[in-house]
Amino acid sequence: MQHGGLTRRDISFDHPALAGWTFPVFEVVGKKAGAHLAVIAGVHVNETSSIEAAIRLQRAFDPETLCGKVSIMPIVNQPAIPHRSQYVCPLDGKNINFSFPGRADGTFSEAIADALLTVWAADADCLVDMHGGDLCENVAHFTVCQTTGDAAFDERNMELAKCFDSEIIVRLDPSHLAAPGRSCTGRAGRGQHAAFSEAGRIGIMEEDNIAFHFEGVLRIAKKLGMIDAAPPPRREPVIVSRYLWLPAPADGFYRYRVEAGDRVAAGTVLAIAENTFGEVVGELRAPESGLVLWRFTHALVMADSLMMGLGVPD
Ligand SMILES: [Zn+2]
Repeated sequence: MQHGGLTRRDISFDHPALAGWTFPVFEVVGKKAGAHLAVIAGVHVNETSSIEAAIRLQRAFDPETLCGKVSIMPIVNQPAIPHRSQYVCPLDGKNINFSFPGRADGTFSEAIADALLTVWAADADCLVDMHGGDLCENVAHFTVCQTTGDAAFDERNMELAKCFDSEIIVRLDPSHLAAPGRSCTGRAGRGQHAAFSEAGRIGIMEEDNIAFHFEGVLRIAKKLGMIDAAPPPRREPVIVSRYLWLPAPADGFYRYRVEAGDRVAAGTVLAIAENTFGEVVGELRAPESGLVLWRFTHALVMADSLMMGLGVPD
């Protein structure tokens, strides 16, 4: 192992679709041997609380006492930066967040997903992917945990998910492994552990959302035996097993009746759509009882666009 220290460098990958692109990364190498923890943010570039947490994390580890190595890539979706693109990579119109495990010969989104899993974080003991709060959404404090059906693997992934002080943990069943998905799904398909955190809102940096991500990574580092101490978690999360994406019932100017994190009963009115005469033209109701994972924040919503996420407990 290298002798300890903090380094910053721009890295590139051999994937054809990534030619010409560089990615700033930080590496903190401890003086003692230990685990490798890889952390990414900025798959969605407006989710600035998670990006800020990644930037702060570079100075959170003391090379003198750290066991192992922490690698941090604060902004994955480099092509989105000048456009402040919501959700997608502007080069291919795809959402990197649902492109894992990716393809070496694919478009940018597929190629960076493959590069992260098979090159940059290939030997990481855990990959943490931090999200939350694109320009038109408020997001609860939650984590996503991919299961595989292997009890020991799944238990370890859940322990990592619980390192975040979550209101809700979304436990994805093994069927998600069959299709492109989040980084935690791509990692699980390779038999590797991951954690996936969501906290933030409307593109702004807020301390409680930054702290959710930042402290969660510290707890993971502690769990991996890399550091001695981390702030204790304060909440007991609700585990949900299904993630419902709720489409808008009508074109409209929406009044929201719930906030991210709220628990709602089946049939609860979540948002009311009016037209420009102030007449009610639609209601979004909870199809089942659950917890609001996130909600759209803009009043203008077109019919059938996804405007809320609902987590449904077992
Ligand atoms: Zn995101």
